[in-house]
Amino acid sequence: MDIDYREFRDADPGSRVLMGPGPSDVPPRVLQALSAPCIGHLDPYFLSMMDETQRLLRWLFQTKNALTIPVSGTGSAGMEAAFVNLVEPGDEVVVCVNGVFGMRMADVTERLGGKLIRVDQPWGRAVDPEAVRKAVKGRKPKIVAVVHAETSTGACTPLEPIAAIAREAGALFLVDAVTSLGGIAVEVDKVGIDAVYSGTQKCLSCPPGLAPLSFSDKAMQALGARKTKAPNWYLDLSMVSNYWGAERKYHHTAPINMIYAIREALRIVAEEGLEARFARHLVNHKALVAGIEAMGLSMLVPAAERLPMLNSIRIPEGADDKKVRGALLKDFGIEIGSGLGEFAGKIWRVGLMGHTARQKNVFLLLSALQSILKAQGVKVGSGAIEAASKVFSKV
Ligand SMILES: *Cc1c(COP(=O)(O)O)cnc(C)c1O
Repeated sequence: MDIDYREFRDADPGSRVLMGPGPSDVPPRVLQALSAPCIGHLDPYFLSMMDETQRLLRWLFQTKNALTIPVSGTGSAGMEAAFVNLVEPGDEVVVCVNGVFGMRMADVTERLGGKLIRVDQPWGRAVDPEAVRKAVKGRKPKIVAVVHAETSTGACTPLEPIAAIAREAGALFLVDAVTSLGGIAVEVDKVGIDAVYSGTQKCLSCPPGLAPLSFSDKAMQALGARKTKAPNWYLDLSMVSNYWGAERKYHHTAPINMIYAIREALRIVAEEGLEARFARHLVNHKALVAGIEAMGLSMLVPAAERLPMLNSIRIPEGADDKKVRGALLKDFGIEIGSGLGEFAGKIWRVGLMGHTARQKNVFLLLSALQSILKAQGVKVGSGAIEAASKVFSKV
């Protein structure tokens, strides 16, 4: 069988403004790092890059944990790695579910034969620690798991109260920080997180493909005390950690160029500084909300529980969800996200993650949305840009 190579075009998608739930806009420096020469995965130069990446990740997670590495694979591989190494059949696992990613953690737990204790919470809201306390009462769960930033709804769950409940119960505290890392504080040691994973394409603004992960000593002890081997060879951290540790024992080939990319993305985060970065996410979020509300639209999540990097906007009466998103992409080059689950067709999800969280993007989205909605005959207030400008001018 023959194929005609001319049927296959050069990869040239053109530019977009990525304001969905991820990936976010990738800065040119990261793309450039990605294109550096591919060298051997045990080359001394590459080994020094691995070390630097780990140092940067420990800083970003605010942890001293030795096992702090980028897992090969996207955020879900980080999730899988955390659970597959800590859950053995019959282990009790408390999973908080207030959106799609909590559901995914529950699914992973069951696939591993864990005894799932599911704490269901309303979507679009933070997890109520009291509900977790009730679920844990009278039990000895091995793990309490929560999603810090629920990307499916835009709700932020404060970690400290749930960490305290896990600690009192003698359980490991497992956190999904895929969307929060790099946009709001994820203080692993201070909060007392035992297992945490993230992704590269959300607030780190690196292409998808790696999952930063960190395990505390307590989690490492639990891993060492397993009665059975982790049922997944590729993500078995007892072996992967030997490759990232002093031994450099080959396990699987690190995705060399992706390591260049995450290292560069982390260098950019360090250059900006954590506090400045979190403040930038917050002001862009506030400006977006001010503009959205000036148009007469409303946000899904109550103000005190909102994430800065993922903004769920209720679709106004008379607006055609698909047509609006289609026009944003076609006429303005802007990608936003649709609603999921019970919010399908009810909300738009606007990401302000990492490099995307900039004033010009907030202005672009507000003006684009305003003009598209007007063209569809939806009554919207004017003054969105003015309202957003006011927020920016205060900083
Ligand atoms: C995106 C995301 C994931 C999954 O990450 P992938 O990179 O898509 O595999 C997991 N949890 C949360 C909260 C996310 O936002």
